[in-house]
Amino acid sequence: MGRTLAKISLVLLLIVALPMGFFLVREFSALTKNEQMVERVFSTQLESILYSINQYSENIVVQWSQSLDQPIAPEDELMQEIVDNLFQNNAAIRAVRFLDLKASQEEAVYFSDSVFSLNVWPEKAEVEQLQTYLDANYQRIKEAQWQDDLLLYFLPKNRSGEQLCQLVVDPRTFMEQNLGPMIQQVAQDLFYIAISDSLTGYVVYANEAEIGNSQSLKQAAMWYLPEYKLGIRLKSKTLDELASERSQRDNYTMMAMGLLVVLGFVFVLVNIRKEMKLAAIKAEFVANVSHEIRTPLALISMYAETLLLKRVKTEEKQVEYLTTIQQESVRLTDIVNRILNFSRIERNRIKYRFERVDLKQVIPEMIASFESHLSAAQVNCCFEASDDDAWVEADREALKTMMNNLLDNAIKYSDKAEKEVRVRVVKRAKQVWVEVQDNGIGISSKNQKHIFDQFYRVTEGDLAHRAKGSGLGLNLVKRMMKVHGGQVTVRSKLGEGSTFILKFPLKTEKDVQNSNR
Ligand code: ADP
Repeated sequence: MGRTLAKISLVLLLIVALPMGFFLVREFSALTKNEQMVERVFSTQLESILYSINQYSENIVVQWSQSLDQPIAPEDELMQEIVDNLFQNNAAIRAVRFLDLKASQEEAVYFSDSVFSLNVWPEKAEVEQLQTYLDANYQRIKEAQWQDDLLLYFLPKNRSGEQLCQLVVDPRTFMEQNLGPMIQQVAQDLFYIAISDSLTGYVVYANEAEIGNSQSLKQAAMWYLPEYKLGIRLKSKTLDELASERSQRDNYTMMAMGLLVVLGFVFVLVNIRKEMKLAAIKAEFVANVSHEIRTPLALISMYAETLLLKRVKTEEKQVEYLTTIQQESVRLTDIVNRILNFSRIERNRIKYRFERVDLKQVIPEMIASFESHLSAAQVNCCFEASDDDAWVEADREALKTMMNNLLDNAIKYSDKAEKEVRVRVVKRAKQVWVEVQDNGIGISSKNQKHIFDQFYRVTEGDLAHRAKGSGLGLNLVKRMMKVHGGQVTVRSKLGEGSTFILKFPLKTEKDVQNSNR
């Protein structure tokens, strides 16, 4: 059996587990790739959000420069109006200054509220660079740090090369008032976007209060605020978490699939093992039964032949031979009935006819019908019953089969010179118990767990080994008791005897009335 099982396992492994394992490994590696791809896509998306914020800041700055780029003198009233308007709409702009590059002098300066000394002159090289851009028709706006402020400067197209315009901008106000609304809009409820000092990492502006963990932020330099960095991350989860959460779910599904395959594999093997064991037991059973049948058949044929040949002289002997023939045919019928009963019960073909019976009355009747066997085995059998009610609902035939089995075992598994069997009917709570006690060889507690299994026979001990049987009797009793809504149990000690107990549900008069209603 071991070798066959090993072969089956190998075949199963080859056709199911191996391809499945291969598939799972492939899927797992594909998942890792997917995870990386998802992360890349997320990352690009975040970068583009940061880019759009920078782009927006550029738009604002370009708008400012365009409004100041007019073909009018800086000190002109109209220019004053334009600058005033700019101050009104952009609290971040602290001052606007126009420089005449040719004359190397300040043409005009406007302050939004407080006046401060502003004396920055651009490097010659820088101006030349701006001029080169302008010649190529591109108005470049440059930025520089000036004290705590941001200094923006550009060459107005309308006064080509002659003038430089400077804007002093407060970076915090620029972030809050100019970029803030845009950041809020982009972030919605999904992202945490923060501007932090690129040196200290200190968060100076964020779309919402959250302890800035610059580690997990995706960061980018700010085009017009070189001292600061723009950072973004998903509000609830980090990018890694989100990507791995997705693939984790897939991982679990695959692991569950793998587990299922392993469990299925084990299940199939266990079942095959069980079936093979059963097949072996059945084969043994057939051999046993054949052996059991052969003995009575041989006896019957031998005695019948002797009688036919008229070799028996005395009438006494004739009676003896005929009695043996009769007894052996009863035994044969018994064996055949047991097998038939069993196969019928196996296929659920047994028909039960339940009726309310008084066990105190029917059990003694059944013992009486088994009397010939008892006396043949020289067994002293006694019956006891308490005064309590012992009404149950039972099928008489089944009851007889069960009692015969238990009594037969009580005789069979005893080697005492004075064999004793006690049958008791007692009421216990809402049950009626039929106890069959013998003083036989007893059953070890290890075997007690199995004796009700199909085909199970105790093989230890001389008598148990020698006694003929099929291992079906107690299993039949167990099945029948189940149909009766009860159960069968055993109490036994090796060498001291056994007590088998049939436990029936009590059926009182009241129960009958209730069920009739
Ligand atoms: P079998 O045909 O072998 O008697 P059973 O199902 O009736 O099959 O019993 C199963 C096993 O339980 C027996 O092989 C026997 O070893 C053990 N057994 C049953 N009844 C008794 C008993 N009264 N005393 C000791 N052993 C018993």
